[in-house]
Amino acid sequence: MNFADSEVVGAILQKGGYDLCTTLEEADFVLINTCAIRDNAEQRVRHRVRELRAEQGRRRQLRIGILGCMAERLQSQLMAEEDNVSLVCGPDAYRRLPELLQQVRHASTGSRDRAAAVELSTTETYDDIEPVRLGSNGISAYISIMRGCQNYCAYCVVPYTRGRERSRDPQTVVDEARSLFDRGYREVTLLGQNVNSYKWVVGSGECVVGFPELMDRVAAIDPGLRVRFATSHPKDLSDELLRVMAAHGNICRCIHLPVQSGSNRMLKLMNRKYTVEWYLDRVEAIRRFLPDCSITTDVIAGFSGETEEDHQATLDLFRRVRYDYAYMFKYSLREGTYAARHLADDIADGEKTRRLNEIIALQGQIALENNRQEVGREYEVLVEGESHRSKERLFGRNSQNKVLVFDRGDAVPGTYRRVRVNDCTAATLLGELV
Ligand code: SAH
Ligand code: SF4
Repeated sequence: MNFADSEVVGAILQKGGYDLCTTLEEADFVLINTCAIRDNAEQRVRHRVRELRAEQGRRRQLRIGILGCMAERLQSQLMAEEDNVSLVCGPDAYRRLPELLQQVRHASTGSRDRAAAVELSTTETYDDIEPVRLGSNGISAYISIMRGCQNYCAYCVVPYTRGRERSRDPQTVVDEARSLFDRGYREVTLLGQNVNSYKWVVGSGECVVGFPELMDRVAAIDPGLRVRFATSHPKDLSDELLRVMAAHGNICRCIHLPVQSGSNRMLKLMNRKYTVEWYLDRVEAIRRFLPDCSITTDVIAGFSGETEEDHQATLDLFRRVRYDYAYMFKYSLREGTYAARHLADDIADGEKTRRLNEIIALQGQIALENNRQEVGREYEVLVEGESHRSKERLFGRNSQNKVLVFDRGDAVPGTYRRVRVNDCTAATLLGELV
C-alpha cells in the first residue's frame, strides 16, 4: 500500500515541477513513506532518519520529510522528537506536497522552517492521478482501489491513521489497468485495506459497483492481464466473488485471508467480526469454487489475555488450513486503539516470542510439505526477471503467487511460459521450461 502511495506522491511531485532521483547524493529532499502498524516499523524509520544526519552535516540544504501513517499518528510531535525532520504529511494530504516543499525550501534554517499537513479526508482517493511507476519491472503494478478502514480491530492503528473507508470510481480503476496493459504490463494487483468491501456508491447511497463486479470488469480487459488483490477481510469474502474468480482464468488463484487468531475468544476481543467456524466455512468455499487456489494469512501472537489454550487453537487452525504462506507478528500495543485503552498488554515479551516462533516453525514445515506436493506439476509462469542468485536463471510466479526459478533458455521477462516443477524449498519452487 505504501509502495502504491509513493507512486502517487511521485506523480504529484513531478506535476509540481520536481524531479525524482534514485540516490541520496542527488536529492535535495528525502521523503520517507512510513508505516505505523507495529512499533518496530516505526523504530526502523527513526533509525533511518537519524542515519540521515550525517548527510545533512555535509549538505545543510538537505531536507527530510516523513509521509504516511507515522506522520499521521505523531504529527508535529515527530518533528519535536526528530529535529532534523522539516515536514510531516499524512496519507490524505499528498496533493499539498509541492506547496509544502516550497514552504520548507524557502524558509531559513531553524525551528520555524517546518510544515505539517495531517488532515484526514472522507473523499480523497487520488483517482485522477496516474502514478509514476517507481523501480518498476514494467510487468506488474499496483492499483489502489480504496483507502481507509473503519473496522476498528481492537489492536489496529489503521482506522486512526488512514481515516474512513472510501472507494475509487470504478471507471478510473479500469482505465488505469487498461493503460498499464497497453504499455506492456501483464499483472495488476488491486489494493485496499479491505479490498472486498470495495463499494462504489452514487446518489441516494445505492451500491452501484461492488468488488466482484469491479474484478469482473478488470479481468475482462484482456485474458493476458493477470489480476490479483490484497487484502481481503474474511467477513466480506462472498461466494459471489469466488464465482467471478472461477469464471476468469486470469484472476489469480491466490487469496490472502488474514485470520489473526484461531481462538474465538481472541477473535471477539480483537473485534474481528467473524468466528473460527465462519472462517473455516470461507476456506471451504474457496476450495470448492477454486480447488487450485493458494491461501495465505496474517496472524498475531500474544494479543491481550491470550492463554496457552488460545495459542494452541491458532496452531490447530494452521494445521487445518495448511496455508501456503503467512505473515506472522508479535502483538505490538498501539496508542489510541481500543486495546491500548481497555485491554492489558499482559503477555510477557519472551512468551510472545516463544508463541510466535512456534507458529513460524509450524508454518515453515507446512509450506515445505505443500511445496513438495508441487513437484512434478506444470504451471504457467509470468516471467519477471533474473533470479537473484544466478544470471543463468530466471524467476516468475504462477497464478498461486508461488515463485518459480528455472534455467533461462529462450524465455523473456514479461511473457508467459510453462514451467515444470522438479524440486523445492519452503519458499521457492525450482523447475524447468517445458
Ligand atoms: N486490513 C488488513 C490488515 C492490514 S495490517 C486486514 O484486516 O486483514 C497487516 C497486518 O498487521 C494485520 O493483518 C495484522 O496481522 C498485523 N497487525 C496489525 N496491527 C498489529 C499490532 N498492533 N500488532 C501486531 N500486528 C498487527
Ligand atoms: Fe486494521 Fe482491522 Fe482495518 Fe485490517 S480490518 S486495517 S486489521 S482495523
